[in-house]
Amino acid sequence: MTKVIPADRIKKLPPYLFAAIDAMKQEAIREGKDVINLGIGDPDLPTPTSIIERLQRAAAIPKNHQYPSYEGMPSFREAVAQWYQGRFNVALDPYTEVVTLIGSKEGIGHAPLAFINPGDTALMTDPGYPVYHAGTLFAGGESYFVPLLEENGFLPDLHSIPESVARKARMFFINSPNNPTTAVATREFFESVVAFANRYNILICHDAAYSEIYYNDIRPLSFLEVPGAKEVGIEFHSLSKTFNMTGWRIGFAVGNKEALAALLKVKSNLDSGVFQAIQEAGITALKTEDHILNNIRRIYQERRDVLVPGLQKLGFQIESPKASFYVWIKIPSHTLSAEFASRLLAETSIVATPGIGFGEAGEGFIRMTLTSPTTRLLEAVDRMEKAGITGR
Ligand SMILES: *Cc1c(COP(=O)(O)O)cnc(C)c1O
Repeated sequence: MTKVIPADRIKKLPPYLFAAIDAMKQEAIREGKDVINLGIGDPDLPTPTSIIERLQRAAAIPKNHQYPSYEGMPSFREAVAQWYQGRFNVALDPYTEVVTLIGSKEGIGHAPLAFINPGDTALMTDPGYPVYHAGTLFAGGESYFVPLLEENGFLPDLHSIPESVARKARMFFINSPNNPTTAVATREFFESVVAFANRYNILICHDAAYSEIYYNDIRPLSFLEVPGAKEVGIEFHSLSKTFNMTGWRIGFAVGNKEALAALLKVKSNLDSGVFQAIQEAGITALKTEDHILNNIRRIYQERRDVLVPGLQKLGFQIESPKASFYVWIKIPSHTLSAEFASRLLAETSIVATPGIGFGEAGEGFIRMTLTSPTTRLLEAVDRMEKAGITGR
């Protein structure tokens, strides 16, 4: 009998900090409690009908049953380039500057395999999406975490990165609109990132998964809108959050063609692309009429405008997010985020994510999501009030 010994890289993964909360949640559900789940970043709204209908038609076409091309269908990549031109006024060559991904997580996770040699450093923001670090570990790299601090508007302070670290760094993961802090990058910030990348010869990997979840018609920028960005970086996009398609698994990377070619080299050895019927549906998604997306944004905005004032009334210091479907909530300084989340679940059956789960700099915060109806958010605030859980 073989004694199965997992590789060291698996042991190096950080402990799954949500495990305790998950177990408590399952327990509460088993006990028949009415759990309000504000923990998951997964849209509750359905995929728009036109996209579903396109999949149904495309699934019946025999040529779509065969292997897709590694880089994605030309028609999907052309639709991406068109969408980019319309949305960001950025011109992309669909054949060299767009790669289809099996969701952006797949591209983000594989990117370090294309750019990191064992021992190389990847920069990433903390708190952050855990895949930046996991992908770096799998490539044998070292992660350097740049904290996202309230006093800097939750944007990374590039000057805080030691010269010796910057010189060793090969890539830098940034993310705007940000999960979990909800911060949105300014043009000046992106310009400073381009200068930083040029100075230290670093590849920028910008995660733009939430670019279309914004409020008050203030549209977040693409990193590629800034002069020189395409010379230093790539941008990851997802259809998941924008079109309520998390289960479909389709996204794309755009930008620097040498970088995309290297990423594609990794991918073509590990996966075989995205089911063509889903790519066809993706074309329909990228052509979704504005009124449909405006309606989705309006629903999140209504929820935001219920949850944020409700929490503020309970004494929590929070700013209303300008983008994303998260609320990043500062908790009283005398508690740890994991303790706070446990108490919330035990006393109110509300699931929220402790900030520490996104990295050390996430301590002192919890994250709630706007992927539940307003009635549930009102109920959540009400339960907190009754349990005496406040921001003070
Ligand atoms: C959800 C999410 C992704 C990944 O989405 P996919 O479904 O894999 O496209 C990437 N980055 C961030 C920050 C996310 O929250």
